[in-house]
Amino acid sequence: MEMMEKLWTYMQADSKAEQINRELRSSPLRQKLEKMQTYILERQQAYKTMEQQVANHADRKDALQDVLQRAKGQLEALEQRFAQQPPQDTEQVDAMIEEIKRCQRRISEYQHELERIFADAKGFTSRAQTIRSETARARQQFMEMKDRYTEELASRKTAYQEARAAADAQAQGIPEDLMQLYSNAKKHTWPPMARLVGSQCSGCNTALPSAALRKIDAGDSYVECENCGRILIK
Ligand SMILES: [Zn+2]
Repeated sequence: MEMMEKLWTYMQADSKAEQINRELRSSPLRQKLEKMQTYILERQQAYKTMEQQVANHADRKDALQDVLQRAKGQLEALEQRFAQQPPQDTEQVDAMIEEIKRCQRRISEYQHELERIFADAKGFTSRAQTIRSETARARQQFMEMKDRYTEELASRKTAYQEARAAADAQAQGIPEDLMQLYSNAKKHTWPPMARLVGSQCSGCNTALPSAALRKIDAGDSYVECENCGRILIK
């Protein structure tokens, strides 16, 4: 049946267009780009987290500097009192010395914590710089890759459009209902047509019932394989 041969030719042209389309979607460059994008987003997130930590640290540092200042003031006041109103007995002396010592201990604790914070801040700053330069490098690579991909896409798209137009040209003259049958079959199987080999569908190697074979021989209706749904052609 001539019409079926026409559809078969159309399928070959359609197949070429589909192939280009598949390649377009699975382009290694495109996959790399997607990975790179995810990486950049992760780095940006890490940088934000780092900035938050730096801000928290700065707050803690300010608070510590305040209490340190206050403790130093207290110590000064204590020392003045000790000089201006010297204690009268050893008990008072011991109490005052104890008070001064407590104050000095607090001051030294605050100072230690501040030193720790300064050291941490240095670490944060250098890590933040690393993250920033990693992100910048990745972004640079991303942009370069994107340019290449855009070029690739443009050339492949033209190739696809040409292949699609060629297929459309082949579809000229094929009845609407047969094209509909074809696109339905295409939705769940590829290729959507199969040659009959002996009494078997060459798509799935299932033997066809004699009624179906007779129909194909008569050539007055379209027959689909009962097993795989492909349109059968002699
Ligand atoms: Zn089949």
